[in-house]
This record gives sequence, C-alpha cells and structure tokens, in this order.
Amino acid sequence: MNETKPMNTLNRQPPANYVGRILYGDYSDALKERIDTIFASTEAAEKCGLPIMPYLAAWHEKENIIWYEYAAPRFVELLNCTSVNVSRVFRDSILDQRIYKYGELSSDGVEEKVLTRQQLSGQRIDLRHEVQKKGQVEAIYQVALPDGRTIWLKDQASIEIHSQDKISLSLGNLTDVTKEMEQKDLLEKIGYFDDLTGLPRRKILERILEVKIGERHRGYIKDFSFLLIDIDFFKSVNDTHGHQAGDHVLRELASVMVDAKRKEDEIGRYGGEEFYAVCQGNVKSGMDFAERLRRTVADHTFSYRDRKIPTTISIGVASASEISGQDMAHLIEKGDKRLYLAKQQGRNMVIGSD
Ligand code: GH3
Ligand code: MG
Ligand code: MG
Repeated sequence: MNETKPMNTLNRQPPANYVGRILYGDYSDALKERIDTIFASTEAAEKCGLPIMPYLAAWHEKENIIWYEYAAPRFVELLNCTSVNVSRVFRDSILDQRIYKYGELSSDGVEEKVLTRQQLSGQRIDLRHEVQKKGQVEAIYQVALPDGRTIWLKDQASIEIHSQDKISLSLGNLTDVTKEMEQKDLLEKIGYFDDLTGLPRRKILERILEVKIGERHRGYIKDFSFLLIDIDFFKSVNDTHGHQAGDHVLRELASVMVDAKRKEDEIGRYGGEEFYAVCQGNVKSGMDFAERLRRTVADHTFSYRDRKIPTTISIGVASASEISGQDMAHLIEKGDKRLYLAKQQGRNMVIGSD
C-alpha cells in the first residue's frame, strides 16, 4: 500500500474494508479529513437502519475513471461483487440512464434525458463535466442484476470539487425506485400522456370527471370546475411561422400553464390547440384559476428561433353545480359554449356564465 501521507493526521481509522485511494494517497490533509468526516456521518446514518445505500465516488481531473471511496454493503451485495470492482460492475450493468434536471422546460418542470447504454459510454465524460458545473444531480438507472432481475435505482448526489487535489467527490445515495418507474412506464405504454406536450390526453379527462362527479355525488367535495382552453388565432401562427413553430408554442404553452397551476389542479390536452383543466371549487374559483392562466400566458413571451410569437388563450368555465345530474357531457358542453362566447366577445378572455 502506498503510504506517502500516512493516516496519523486523522483521528479515526478508515472503515475496515476501505478500498479507496485518497486516504493513503498523496493528497492534502484537508481532503483526507473531509473523506473521514463523510465516512463518520455515513456510518452513523447506516447504523440508524435507514433504508439507504450511500456511496462516495471520486475522480481525478486528469483521469477518465471513477472509483469508489465507499460503497454501501447493501449496494455491493445487490451487484454481487466486491468493493474493489463495484465501479466497473455497476457501470456494466446499467441498461439505461435518465437524468433529471430541475426547473427546465417540460410539462412538469422536470426535463428528462434518456440515454441508452451505447450513448452512455460516449457521453460519460460530458456528463461528468455537466454534473460538476451544476453541483447536484439526480439520475435514475435501470440496472440488470446478476440474479436476472431488472431494477431501477435513483441516484441523488452532490458534487464537491477539491481543486487543490484536482479531485471531485460525488456524495450520493441510491434508492430502489423500481415500483415507481414501472408505474411510469405503464402509464406511458397505455398512452396516458400526449406525445407533443407531455400532458394527460383527452381520454384521461373522462376518468378525472368520472371520479370528481362521483366524489361530489357522495358529498366528499362540494363542487369542482371544468375549463376548456383554446389558443386564439392559432391557425395564423402555423401560417405565419410554420407548423414547427406551432408545435413549439403548444409545448411551451403546456409548460407555462402547468407552472401556473396548483398541485391539485389538472391540466391536459383536449386535442389540437385546445386544453382542459379541472380544479376544486365553484365557478367563481374556476374563473379565478382561468384568469390566472389567461394572464400568465398573455404575459409570457413565446418565441421560436428568435421570432416572437404573441400568444393568448380564451377559456370557458363551467362548474358541476351548474348542471343537473351526473352527466359529464353536459359539463363539457357548457364549458364549450362559454368558450365560444369568449371567442365572440374578443378573445384573450375568460367567460363563466351564459
Ligand atoms: P380561434 O381564435 O377562433 O380559436 O382561431 P384558431 O385559428 O385558433 O382556430 P382554428 O380552429 O381555425 O385553427 C386551429 C389551428 O390549430 C388549425 C390547426 O392547424 C392547428 N393545430 C391543431 N393541432 C395542431 C398541432 O398539433 N400542431 C400545430 N402546429 N398546429 C395544430
Ligand atoms: Mg380550436
Ligand atoms: Mg383556437
């Protein structure tokens, strides 16, 4: 073992099965102490019995390899390997990797980047640079286990750069999210989401209304509102800027509206340039919601390839308490009629009465 800088500057001994390089390598005391602190807190967390799989990975600025200073025993067991080769075994068992970047454009505010295994081998270095820049990363890996099972592991890590030592550390935690990912894949398979906007499709609206109408019938909720949303003069967007620009506006509009809604509100694509939304409360709160959407869209700058595309929406609002019985077709019809009124009365408008 290379002991150019012995461990005696530290208070504690490394874990018994330590296979990292830094503690016994030619690195600064500050870095060694940092590693030691991380070990101590990781050990404490694992002693509590928390269902987590922490790891500490490291890489040198000049080298194209990642090694583990520490990998949770459960992780090593899962891969049926040893702490020494865990990095290689893990890399070789990844079937697909999805990286989530927060706060960027998409239907739910999270951009998903799916990389296949082939892409991964080419892009690993780029990814590392990107991660270094951001400081934090969340990725989900589909992993083929030696026992034949395929699982999904979520990796949440923060990155520390120790420039004096030219070392980057990734302090991470892996969680098994197989159940959640299978649910998501299932939803994608059954066509829950619209391809262009990523929003729930029209057939999902029927289910949402069915559930809401049932809840209201049983007295669980007092009222709810339905919004039918239509882009104003959208045909001229296609005619003036082209169909691709039109598609871009549809995607961006979806994202802007999703950002403006509350968690419990639903927004989906009704078809073409029409969207629906469902929210709690009577027609007054439905109109408040609609007005917020209308204003947010009108204030947003839509542009495609540096060309501005002014975009507004008109909305018809109807609430369940305004219709007799439990017929969802009546509710949609009422929303549609009011949308038509909003168009007639000048567009960029919300109408919630006849
Ligand atoms: P109004 O204010 O009365 O709603 O006018 P409008 O031009 O928006 O309405 P119209 O129904 O005449 O045109 C809707 C346009 O939406 C026509 C169609 O080409 C366009 N459209 C529908 N779906 C898509 C889509 O997926 N992508 C693109 N780019 N355009 C679409
Ligand atoms: Mg229309
Ligand atoms: Mg329209």
